[in-house]
Amino acid sequence: LLMAYDPARRLARLQVSLERAAVNARMIYEILDIQPRQADRADARPLAISDATITFRDVRFGYTDNDTILKDVSFTAEGGKTTALVGPSGAGKSTVISLIPRFYDPAAGEILIDGQDIAHVTKQSLRNAIAYVSQQPYLFEGTIRDNIRYGRPDATDAEIEEAARHAYAHDFILAQPLGYDTPVGENGVTLSGGQRQRLSIARALVRNAPILLLDEATSALDTESEQAVQRALDEAMSGRTVVVIAHRLSTVVRADKIIVMQAGQVVEEGTHAALATRENGLYARLNNLQAPTAGAAQTSQETGAGI
Ligand code: ATP
Repeated sequence: LLMAYDPARRLARLQVSLERAAVNARMIYEILDIQPRQADRADARPLAISDATITFRDVRFGYTDNDTILKDVSFTAEGGKTTALVGPSGAGKSTVISLIPRFYDPAAGEILIDGQDIAHVTKQSLRNAIAYVSQQPYLFEGTIRDNIRYGRPDATDAEIEEAARHAYAHDFILAQPLGYDTPVGENGVTLSGGQRQRLSIARALVRNAPILLLDEATSALDTESEQAVQRALDEAMSGRTVVVIAHRLSTVVRADKIIVMQAGQVVEEGTHAALATRENGLYARLNNLQAPTAGAAQTSQETGAGI
């Protein structure tokens, strides 16, 4: 879809009509500056952030009028803390994430950020507060610098470089033939999976947003890349409200709170220590199932049971 775009036109060409398609493709989801599709309510106000606490209150949602994918989902992702969403495939984790920037709106219930119903704030202010790192970072035609700048079109070169440093990307960028001006994408240099991820993290960091939505990668990277990506993520997560679709045991174990989803509902919540010992709990069962691979999960392997 995006391949057809003229590389020189960049952000300006990412038009409104692409928004929905892009979400479905989980491709340019991380480009949160796309012009929102629906107009704001007449009384919409800018979101006022204090600690960026996110609250789902009895949220019901379906992609069509006939399905109910989320059934009265309630949870709080505390400001500045990490909340991990876990559960089997199809449980609704990605759907929960996509409601936060309002790619979709709930059929019932509400989502609050610092007490403000996000349906009542301007989409621009909402999305400015959010950065997103996807499983499969998308690189556009253009230079490395352009690709980081997609995170915030008015970022200066110095801010881009700073974001790249924090994302542990600066050194490999300098090692490219033209440094930050090296073309990537279809006709550019080929970057490794770990390098692409670090560019995506730099793109998120340059937004300097208080909320980070993270869809953790499931594909294995080599150990060295893995460590660099993990350090970059730690940097990106620090001090932010993070909601992460967690695939690695190490992420789940370190999360301040785990939300266990199944079939569109929150079935358990708590810390790893509390949930792992709960008799007959879903999390405890999933956790036991994957115990033999726990060591591997610390590094790169997708965990066996959908966690
Ligand atoms: P996974 O770990 O496999 O990504 P998940 O827990 O994130 O799963 P979702 O992707 O949120 O689950 O999917 C929940 C349900 O919603 C599934 O039944 C899925 O088929 C459906 N679904 C997801 N996206 C769409 C969409 N764009 N249109 C229609 N149905 C969708």
